[in-house]
Amino acid sequence: MKILIIAALQQEAKPIITELDLIETTPFDDVLPMRIFTNNSNPQITLVISGADLQHHVENVGTQAAAISALMAIKTFNPDLVINIGTAGGFKEKGAEIGDVYIATQAFYHHRRIPLPKYKAYGMGGYLCDTMPEITDKLNVKKGILSTGDSLDAQPCDLEIMKKHNAVIKDMEGASIVWVANLYKKPVLVMKSVTDFVDYPEENFQDFIKNLNLASHNLKDQVLQILSLLK
Ligand code: SAH
Repeated sequence: MKILIIAALQQEAKPIITELDLIETTPFDDVLPMRIFTNNSNPQITLVISGADLQHHVENVGTQAAAISALMAIKTFNPDLVINIGTAGGFKEKGAEIGDVYIATQAFYHHRRIPLPKYKAYGMGGYLCDTMPEITDKLNVKKGILSTGDSLDAQPCDLEIMKKHNAVIKDMEGASIVWVANLYKKPVLVMKSVTDFVDYPEENFQDFIKNLNLASHNLKDQVLQILSLLK
């Protein structure tokens, strides 16, 4: 059994890398910034993070790097399961708490508005992604709808779209990874831990930094749980 874990940030992945003794291995090629960590146990884990942007020297968050990570890693490693882990904003009014871990049941976009026949629905995505309920029902997680967009903040029209889709969590990668996994017919899970509140954004960015460690630690616990259930 081969499992591919995709994260945007190194810090989100760090507890998993440490706990599973993953070792950094050769990158996809000389150009792509993604970094790859792996082990040789069963199940075999390959973990990919997005790496740093050459021009701006920050990590590559967002959908474009996430789609490339997913594409390259699926083609290179041919995994049996793809798990996107990461942090997310949560909607407090829908019951999200800081540090909660969610499994996304469906992944929408809120930044792809295309008001043309048929393209409207295409833009919004809406991919089903709780592909292994027999496993995820046994985890200590909540479940809810995810909305992905390339901004950390949320403008009024983003909020309106997320409300319409009944989103409980908001990230910057999930839907694009599900899209690629679906192309290759790979079972996919999106597991996100809440670092900040979308509906109480006053301290959004400070909250994110403050809660990143807690969220990453909680993600690691649930990844270990998935691995033990898959044995
Ligand atoms: N590393 C930067 C910030 C990263 S951007 C820093 O330390 O300041 C935020 C990352 O966390 C993205 O990968 C995104 O998927 C996730 N995320 C956390 N809270 C979010 C929110 N409220 N909205 C969208 N994405 C969020």
